[in-house]
Amino acid sequence: MGKKKRRRDYPVIENVEMQKIAAEGKSFAKVNEKAVFVPFTVPGDVVDVKITESRSSFMEGKAIRFEKYSDMRIEPKCEHFATCGGCKWQMIPYEKQLEAKQQQVLDNFQRLGNFDFPAHEPILGSQEQYYYRNKLEFTFSKRIWVTDYSRELDFKDLNMNGLGFHMPGMFDRILNIENCYLQASPSNEIRLAIREYAWKNDLTFYDQREQTGFLRNLIIRTASTGDLMVILVVGEPRMDLLNPMLDYIKETFPQITSLMYAINEKLNTIITDLPIYTYHGNSFLMEEMEGVKFKVGPVSFYQTNSPQAYEMYKLAREYADLNGDELVYDLYTGTGTIANFIARKAKKVVGVEYVPEAIDDARVNSQINGISNTVFYAGDLAKVLNEDFVVENGRPDVIITDPPRAGMHENVVQQMIKAAPQKIVYISCNPATQARDITLMKDFYKVAMVQPVDMFPQTHHVENIVLLERL
Ligand code: SAH
Repeated sequence: MGKKKRRRDYPVIENVEMQKIAAEGKSFAKVNEKAVFVPFTVPGDVVDVKITESRSSFMEGKAIRFEKYSDMRIEPKCEHFATCGGCKWQMIPYEKQLEAKQQQVLDNFQRLGNFDFPAHEPILGSQEQYYYRNKLEFTFSKRIWVTDYSRELDFKDLNMNGLGFHMPGMFDRILNIENCYLQASPSNEIRLAIREYAWKNDLTFYDQREQTGFLRNLIIRTASTGDLMVILVVGEPRMDLLNPMLDYIKETFPQITSLMYAINEKLNTIITDLPIYTYHGNSFLMEEMEGVKFKVGPVSFYQTNSPQAYEMYKLAREYADLNGDELVYDLYTGTGTIANFIARKAKKVVGVEYVPEAIDDARVNSQINGISNTVFYAGDLAKVLNEDFVVENGRPDVIITDPPRAGMHENVVQQMIKAAPQKIVYISCNPATQARDITLMKDFYKVAMVQPVDMFPQTHHVENIVLLERL
C-alpha cells in the first residue's frame, strides 16, 4: 500500500462567473490567469468554488454556493439529477449541449491536432433526447444512498435494500432509482416490479462489502424490432428462489422475448465468463437496419442508441463512397455491425476485432443475412494488422476504423498508412485521441470531412466521424 495522500486544504474562491463548457462536462472560468474547472455548473452561473486540486496550470473545484444561476439553465427532468452519475447535462438546453459538443471536437482538433481540417458539418443531433438507450444495467444493493434528509431518519427502520445505479465513486452504495429517462417503457416498470417482488418475498439484496446476498444485477435490453431481453444475475445457486421469481417476471411481462439468468458467485460483476441460461424465449434479440438483421446475444456489444447508430453507419457508408468494387477493412469491428451493414455495397469486407465471441457473432450475422463477402479475424489489431495480413487479404481501397476511447495503437496507424487505402473513415468516441492519431497521418492523408454525431444526449460524450483522403 502506498502512502496515503494528505488532503490539502485549498481555499474557497468567491463569486466566480463560469465562462465556457469544457471537457468532461465541467464548466470553466479564469481566476487570476488560472483556469478553474467546476462540474455541475454552466456558463453564466456565479458560484463560490471550493478548490479541490491545484496544479501549475489549472485548478479543479466544487461549487459550494450559487450566487446566481445562469439564464441558460433549464429545469432538469429527472428527480435523481445531480445525485445519479448519469445525464449530468440535463440543466443545459439540448441545442446548447450540441453546440458544446461541436466546440469540444473543434477544441481538440485545434489544440491537440497538427493538421488542416475543413469547417465541420453541424453536429447531427439525436432524434430522441431521452429514452434513447437500448441497454441498462442495474445493481441490487443492501445499502442504498439515502437522499431524503427532509425528516429525521431512523436508519434502523429504513428499508436499505434497493435497485439502481452505483453512486459515483462508491463501490458499495447504489441510488435506488424510481424513474429513469434513459430507456423506454417497460424498462422502469420491469425494474420496479422486480424490486417490489424482492421486497415482498424477503429476498436478500447483495452486500458489496461482505460479498454476500442473492440478488446482484439486472440487465434490460430493448431492440427496435420490439424484442426485449431481461437478464437476472444472482449470487447464489438457489433455484428454489430463482424459479418462482423468473415465473413472476415472465407472467407479469409477457412482452419479454428473452428471459435469462446467470449465477455469479465470483467477487467481480463480470458475466461474460459465465454461462447465461435462457429461462424463457430466445437466447438473443434481433436488431435490424435496412433489412439487415443483427443477432445480439446477452453479452454482445451493440451501439446503445440504435436510431443514432443507424445515422452514423449511413454517414460512414456515404463517406466510404462504395460502388461495389472495393475491398474494405472494418477495424475494431465488434460484432461486425458496420461490416455487414456495408457488405452489399462492397466487393469484400474484412473485419478485425479482439473479442473472439464478438467475431463469432459477426460471422453469424453475415450468415443469417446471406452475406458471403465478409471475413472476420479475432486478434489484437496492433499485432494482426501487418504486411502479411495485407498481402493475404488484399490492399484495402477503404479502411473504416472505430477504436475505443484510447484511440489506435501507433502500430495500427503506421500499418494503415502502409496499406495506403484511398479513403479512411475514422469513427471515434474521443476527439482527443482521434486528433492525435490523425496527426500521425497528416503527411499522407488530408482531412476532407468532419462530422460530429450525438449518440448520448444529456451527457458530454460526443462521437465524431472524419473522412481522410489520400494525398
Ligand atoms: N464498430 C463496432 C464497435 C466498435 S467498439 C460497432 O459499431 O458496433 C470498439 C471495439 O474495438 C470493441 O469491440 C473492442 O472489443 C475492440 N477493440 C479494442 N481494442 C482492440 C484491439 N487492440 N484490437 C482489436 N480490437 C479491439
